[in-house]
Amino acid sequence: MNRFAFYRLHAITFLPVFVYSNVYGSRLIHVYEKEKYMSASAVKETLNPFEIAQKQVKTACDRLNADPAVFEILKKPQRVLEVNFPVKLDNGTVENFTGYRSQHNNAVGPYKGGVRFHPNVNMDEVKALSIWMTIKCCVAGIPYGGGKGGITLDPRNYSEAELERIARAYSEAISPLIGEKIDIPAPDVNTNGKIMSWMVDAYENVVKHSAPGVFTGKPVEFGGSLARTEATGYGVNFAAVQALEKLGKDVKGATYAIQGFGNVGYHTGYYAHKAGAKIVAVSTVDVAIYNENGLDMEAIIKEFQTKGFITNEAGYGKEISNAELLALEVDVLAPCALENQLTSENAGKVRAKIVVEGANGPTTPEADVILRQNGVLVVPDILANCGGVVVSYFEWVQNLQGYYWEFDEVQEKETVVLRRAFRDIWNLAQEYDVDLRTASYMMSIRRVEKAMKLRGWY
Ligand code: NAD
Repeated sequence: MNRFAFYRLHAITFLPVFVYSNVYGSRLIHVYEKEKYMSASAVKETLNPFEIAQKQVKTACDRLNADPAVFEILKKPQRVLEVNFPVKLDNGTVENFTGYRSQHNNAVGPYKGGVRFHPNVNMDEVKALSIWMTIKCCVAGIPYGGGKGGITLDPRNYSEAELERIARAYSEAISPLIGEKIDIPAPDVNTNGKIMSWMVDAYENVVKHSAPGVFTGKPVEFGGSLARTEATGYGVNFAAVQALEKLGKDVKGATYAIQGFGNVGYHTGYYAHKAGAKIVAVSTVDVAIYNENGLDMEAIIKEFQTKGFITNEAGYGKEISNAELLALEVDVLAPCALENQLTSENAGKVRAKIVVEGANGPTTPEADVILRQNGVLVVPDILANCGGVVVSYFEWVQNLQGYYWEFDEVQEKETVVLRRAFRDIWNLAQEYDVDLRTASYMMSIRRVEKAMKLRGWY
């Protein structure tokens, strides 16, 4: 079956719930996007991540003087799937959940990207996140395209048994469009290895064969890779260390503030602490804690390892707001929570020397300009947090070959990839006199552009 026929088949199968687009275009999605784009362009600063991602791609395409077809293709995902699926809750009632999967571009390789459980998940968000994944995979030089998915829900409102049924139903619903050589999801906000295991099991029940490589971020006992859980935060700190070096600073004694102390924030803090940095502030959605003398990281690490989150019950420091945390005078500010944390409203208040983006999309384009004007060095998400997808790629390689590597071997391989990516992007930024974000997009778009050209897409 050729590519077009394959897409058509699935578009028909999912007609009631499927919003469908590919490189050949779709009238339906065109109208939808045009309206959204026009209404948002009337306001000064858009917080719509899809529009932000499109702007970032456009800036890099213009800077590269790329063929106009390149932006035309990259500005939209090839396919976007919306699924609505009923799940029985513990109290006997039924809730109809909405989930998405966006597949942006597979010129370089199969789609790859996380699955998020969050009340704000919507179609534009997954579309943006899938664009960022295409760019991120090419920044790292791994053979994947970009995908992303999510379910609109607040997981705190559901029992573990309910979350399992939701995860399984979502995996079944998207199963016709994913696969080890097609689209490989992974954990993201509020999802983890346990959830990936349920999703693999549900997928295998549909396809009736073993396919451990269809999801990454699995527990080690179930085909996961050693050093995957640590990979993103390890990479975020490694990016911070390299940026500090560029400013002539040592990580030893450097001060860090970390917004969002989940998987990414915790491991960023863990590795920074191990390298001798002084972590002065960390936060979660519930609390932000500040201690100018440095937080007791040994105790914080212990609490996180025990509970999976932190509180300030032990009195690690004084409680401040998340807004105050973002404005602290530190060497490294690591936003590791969600998008749009630094906007035109608060970017001028940032006093950090370096912003290293652990989260995806924490800085709006307007905030980017302000930070640059104020001399803040921003290490963009697609470079700073690409360690996660790099080790996801290693997990997938191990699954496909059925041969597993040691922890140190994985982390060494990750380090090699991250060092090369940082060096190449730093050099490109110098060559074109652009910021690291634009340089990262330029590097990636060059790679995708070449693959698309070779495939004859333009
Ligand atoms: P997580 O759910 O493990 O942690 C998120 C943390 O952010 C939690 O501590 C939560 O309390 C906190 N948080 C949420 N809203 C907040 C707010 N408004 N203010 C302060 N803190 C807030 O998620 P994660 O896996 O660590 O992902 C965090 C970010 O990193 C997301 O943007 C995600 O897309 C990105 N990311 C994750 C990975 C990965 O491997 N997990 C890889 C690349 C990028």
